[in-house]
Amino acid sequence: MDLKDKVAVVTGSAQGIGKAIALTLARNGADIAVCDIDEELAGQTAGEIEKTGSRAMSCKLDVSQISSVEEMLKKILDKYNKIDILVNNAGITRDALMIRMKEKDWDSVLNINLKGVFNCTRAVSRVMMKQRSGRIVNIASVVGIMGNAGQANYSASKGGVIALTKTCARELAGRNINVNAVAPGFIRTRMTDKLTDEVKNSFVKTIPLAKLGQPEDVADAVLFLVSGLSKYITGQVIKVDGGMVM
Ligand code: NAP
Repeated sequence: MDLKDKVAVVTGSAQGIGKAIALTLARNGADIAVCDIDEELAGQTAGEIEKTGSRAMSCKLDVSQISSVEEMLKKILDKYNKIDILVNNAGITRDALMIRMKEKDWDSVLNINLKGVFNCTRAVSRVMMKQRSGRIVNIASVVGIMGNAGQANYSASKGGVIALTKTCARELAGRNINVNAVAPGFIRTRMTDKLTDEVKNSFVKTIPLAKLGQPEDVADAVLFLVSGLSKYITGQVIKVDGGMVM
C-alpha cells in the first residue's frame, strides 16, 4: 500500500490506537501530523515516527475547540501544503450508569468524541474539496451500534459518529472524498487497561476470536480505507472486534 507523498493527519495520536495508526501509515510512506491534547507526548511520538523514514510533525490540538482546530490546520498547511488523509481518532470515556451520569461528563464526551469529529472534518474537508480528493476515517466503536450499560454518553457519541460518517460520505462524494468509519471492539490500550480483570474477562467471553484486539488491528483497517484498494468504498463502517457484533 503505497502512501508515498500523502499527508495524513491523525487526531489523538500521541498514544494508543492513534499512535498505531500514525506509525502504520508512516511505514507505508505517508507524512504524518501527530495531533493531540498532550503536546509533549505528541512530540515524542513524532520523533518515533521519523525513524520510519517518513516526515512527521506534532501539533497541540483540542478537537472540541474550533480555534484549536483552525490553528492546527494552519500549522500543517504551512509545513506540508496539503492534506490527503484525516483520521478522527481522539476520544475519551467518562463512564457511569445513565441515572448517575453527571452533566459535565455527558458534555465532555459528546464535545470531544462527536463535536470534535465535526470540527476537524469541517475544517479539513474544505482543503480536500479544493484538492478534489481525500480520505477521511472516523474511529467509532461497536458500542455505537449495540449500546453498552454504563456508557450512555460514549455510546451516543459513537452512534453519532457513525451517522455523521454516512452524511459526510454523501455530501463529499462528488469531490472525490471517501468517508468511512472503523468500529473497534475491545482493544488493549490505556482506555481499556482501566477496567477490572472481571470486566475484561466477561467481555472476552462475548468475542468469537476469544481475545482482545491490538491497536495495530485497528490501524490495518484504517490503512485499507486510506489506500487505493478501497477507492469504491464510502459511507461504510468496518467492525474490528473479533466477531463480537455480527
Ligand atoms: P487513548 O489511549 O486514551 O488515546 C487517546 C488520545 O487522545 C490520548 O492521547 C488523549 O490525550 C487524546 N485526547 C483526549 N482528548 C483530546 C482532545 N480533546 N483533543 C485531542 N486529543 C485528545 O485511547 P484509545 O484507546 O487509543 O482510543 C482511541 C480511539 O479509539 C477513541 O476514539 C476511542 O473511543 C476509540 N475506541 C477505543 C477502543 C478501545 O478498546 N481502546 C474501542 C473502541 C473505540 P490525554 O491522554 O491527554 O487525554
